[in-house]
Amino acid sequence: MRGHPGPGGGDPRGTAAVAAAWRTARSSVPPGHLDAAGCNVPSDRVLDAVVGHLRREREVGGYGAVADLGTARSALAALVGAHARDVAFLESGTAATAALLGGWRLAPGSRVGHIRTEYGSTLMLLRRLAAERGIRLVEVPVDGDSRVDLDALREVLAGGLDLLTVPHVASHRGVVQPAREIGRLCREAGVPLVLDVCQSLGHVDTGGIGAAAYVGTSRKWLAGPRGVGFLIAPGLAGPGGGSQEGGRNGRESADGFGPAGADGLGREADGLGREADGFGPTSADGLGRVMDAAAPSLGGHLWVGGQPSPLAGAARYESAEASMAARSGLGVAVLEHHALGPAALRARLAELGVTARRLLDGAGGWRAGEPLDEPSAVVTLRPPPGADPVAAVEEAGARAAAASLLVGTVPVARAPLDMAAPVLRVSPSPGAEEESLHALARILAGRPVSA
Ligand SMILES: *Cc1c(COP(=O)(O)O)cnc(C)c1O
Repeated sequence: MRGHPGPGGGDPRGTAAVAAAWRTARSSVPPGHLDAAGCNVPSDRVLDAVVGHLRREREVGGYGAVADLGTARSALAALVGAHARDVAFLESGTAATAALLGGWRLAPGSRVGHIRTEYGSTLMLLRRLAAERGIRLVEVPVDGDSRVDLDALREVLAGGLDLLTVPHVASHRGVVQPAREIGRLCREAGVPLVLDVCQSLGHVDTGGIGAAAYVGTSRKWLAGPRGVGFLIAPGLAGPGGGSQEGGRNGRESADGFGPAGADGLGREADGLGREADGFGPTSADGLGRVMDAAAPSLGGHLWVGGQPSPLAGAARYESAEASMAARSGLGVAVLEHHALGPAALRARLAELGVTARRLLDGAGGWRAGEPLDEPSAVVTLRPPPGADPVAAVEEAGARAAAASLLVGTVPVARAPLDMAAPVLRVSPSPGAEEESLHALARILAGRPVSA
């Protein structure tokens, strides 16, 4: 184990070493697992934390086994340069998005920006809000890779928006949106940005963006358990929530997380949060007025003067009755992520993604759905021209499975504005063996798997 590098420290670990360490943390990994974007492989310590918490609940009673999630919150928040108090745990990325956007106070006629790669369930929610509350949806133009066109965004922002939602990396396309630039333009225009980091947290750099809120999920690139999602809302500090002044760059600090003890980690995360606070597009008060919970709950609200009143910070969104075992497991996964080194993990994933596209693009006529050098490990493949895409994707997935390779198939409903046909998705986790990618290339090319 390396020593604690301190805030801003680089990550000395190379990509081969981080891949080996990732494998070592797992006593078994399904050999051909290439579906981290669907559901990653949790480590032994993550499983132990989940089972350990369930045991404690049995031994001392469910409500007696209090999970200390403070360190988990700090470590998670540090990935976007925020505080522990900005984190709310929910049951999925979808639940977090519904709590956040469903509860956003948007007057009739409000304009909500989105892009065509928007995740299917978020789009459904936006459409419902538009229909029921008289909100106008404004699509921000993208380029041929479905990457946000920053000049067009500038124009849309100048025309007036009340909120912008963007998936940092989509489920069906491995393009990394220019989130820092989007964040900067939104802050300059005073427009709150909600960044969907379900496919980007733990995968690509999520520091230095300064969004009003982030929604994410445990089981994908953070390799936590299923059944946990979260939102991080740094703009809601509220009374007693600390100052809103501070530095501007959460990125380097967030990477400074080392394999320190829980105590050191908590302290450091606190400092990190203060560093990053200056980001909010409006004051905590301003955002607090528009951000409330969709469904006020006893866990997240108090009765004040006969009225439900949201708690300060992101706590207003958190579900109180939940799998604390799964939340504990996510906490361990996030600490492991920091211990392995976020920068080294990102470099490893970018390397695997580029390797995968170079090997797979063109195999049997399948084509990569993003630029070959895109620095992400979400690799999508479109069926050969002339093939029935639904059947081709299904059949390729089945042939891969028969060869013990687990890949994803992404239906059109996942991103209905951006997809005309389903795609095959290859998303290696950091410990993936390149041989799995070679084997998949042979399958797509119709060659014997063991050639
Ligand atoms: C998976 C995903 C979600 C939803 O997360 P769940 O935990 O499955 O609800 C949202 N957005 C994107 C881009 C995703 O990939």
